[in-house]
Amino acid sequence: MAIANDPDLRRALSERIRYCHEMGIYDFYRRAPEYPQSIEGEVDEIGAGSLSAGTELATQPELKGEMARKSAAAPAIVEDAFHVLSPRPEAGVTDPVAALKLIREDLGECTRCKLHASRQRIVFGVGDPHAELMFIGEGPGADEDAQGEPFVGRAGQLLNNMIKAMGLRREDVYIANIVKCRPPANRQPERDETETCSPFLMRQISAIKPKVLVALGATAAKNLLAMSAPMTELRGRWYDFKPAGSDPSWPGARLAITYHPAFLLRDPRQKGEAWKDLQMVMKYLGIEPLKKASD
Ligand code: SF4
Repeated sequence: MAIANDPDLRRALSERIRYCHEMGIYDFYRRAPEYPQSIEGEVDEIGAGSLSAGTELATQPELKGEMARKSAAAPAIVEDAFHVLSPRPEAGVTDPVAALKLIREDLGECTRCKLHASRQRIVFGVGDPHAELMFIGEGPGADEDAQGEPFVGRAGQLLNNMIKAMGLRREDVYIANIVKCRPPANRQPERDETETCSPFLMRQISAIKPKVLVALGATAAKNLLAMSAPMTELRGRWYDFKPAGSDPSWPGARLAITYHPAFLLRDPRQKGEAWKDLQMVMKYLGIEPLKKASD
């Protein structure tokens, strides 16, 4: 493996990569060259592919500045084993059960963001690792935090009913959240928290390879789409979604947006709109609507 023969640059890169690995980030963008060719080569060696969430090694100002400065002085390239680099633990594991287990082990008793201080239990995700349909919520609430499972409170009951109305069982789908620990007083997760935690969700999605993702609520939608818009604008259409670093043979998922069940509990008038969203999903997945007893 060719990297620059410069101890300072190697140390800086090693530290950055080790830091990213500790954060659960294993993939990095390769971007179009806009700095000297010798540096582009180094970035290539750091990792082909793209990053699932939030960090772009080559654009981090201090590192890019360091790389640009070093390139003028030390363009020499040598063969080396850059032992710090390693793939995600689940890389090459095609069985989603095994892959999810490795991701859970990698997450460990996570303290990567400040939400660890307010949680009782990490809420990793639940459901069928082979699911075609995955629901993504915002974060655990009190019931979820106590039980270690997403969507088990009142909102969870409503989600179960929505899934049942689709002709599915909770066990048929996979359910997870943008963040895996309960924010204090059920506040919205903050940006640093979502950016720290969501790479693990991206890896879960890559392991499960669902056909359809349904984002529940504006926070989930905003984080998955990396854009902010009113729910009325986000709903009712499909988005293509494929986490960076996913299996190249997987075409990715289609992403739909609907209301969070907790919102529907507060404003039941929107249930009809949510049902339209779910019908769009059912149609795409070829799920026939349940016949009523009176039909
Ligand atoms: Fe770790 Fe995610 Fe919990 Fe933060 S929210 S401590 S990143 S598991």
